[in-house]
Amino acid sequence: MKIAIYPGSFDPITNGHVNIIERGAKLFDKLYIVLSHNVNKNSFFTLEERVELTKQAVAHVENIEVIVSENKLTVDFAEELGATAILRGLRGATDFDYEFMMTLTNQKLSASIETVFLTADTEHMYLSSSMVKEVAKFGGNVMKFVPKGVAQMLERKFLTAKSSD
Ligand code: ADP
Repeated sequence: MKIAIYPGSFDPITNGHVNIIERGAKLFDKLYIVLSHNVNKNSFFTLEERVELTKQAVAHVENIEVIVSENKLTVDFAEELGATAILRGLRGATDFDYEFMMTLTNQKLSASIETVFLTADTEHMYLSSSMVKEVAKFGGNVMKFVPKGVAQMLERKFLTAKSSD
């Protein structure tokens, strides 16, 4: 059984992430989507919200599971789950340096885990969670960029923030 993990912040999950998950799930028997409680990043959505939104967004994909990793090395967590691969998405040169560095580091930490990259499809190459939050913050329509549940939650959050200003 080929198991992989797809780690990320998913703050929030976008259509770009969903595309990588749908394609990645075809390559492996089981794909764990691992949400990090990233100590270096202040997330906009709470961990619980990110988990819920991610679960809703990929409920149509059968061989996946959404889980949380708190303060654990990605490779250690992958090994615990019996995974042999880390799946990542590449949008272009801006992702490359960071992803390359992470991959080499992970290789040094565990020789048994390979990192597998899927290039973003052309429709989602420009898409990032931060861009989506920026658009939503100024009242822009994000329905084209994220699953419906995420768009609704973003709208609710920014409306609440505005009304309490
Ligand atoms: P992280 O904080 O670990 O970078 P993200 O949630 O931002 O977490 O991204 C998780 C993974 O998904 C990364 O490999 C990232 O490059 C990839 N990714 C993000 N957005 C897209 C997109 N639009 N298309 C393809 N891959 C993407």
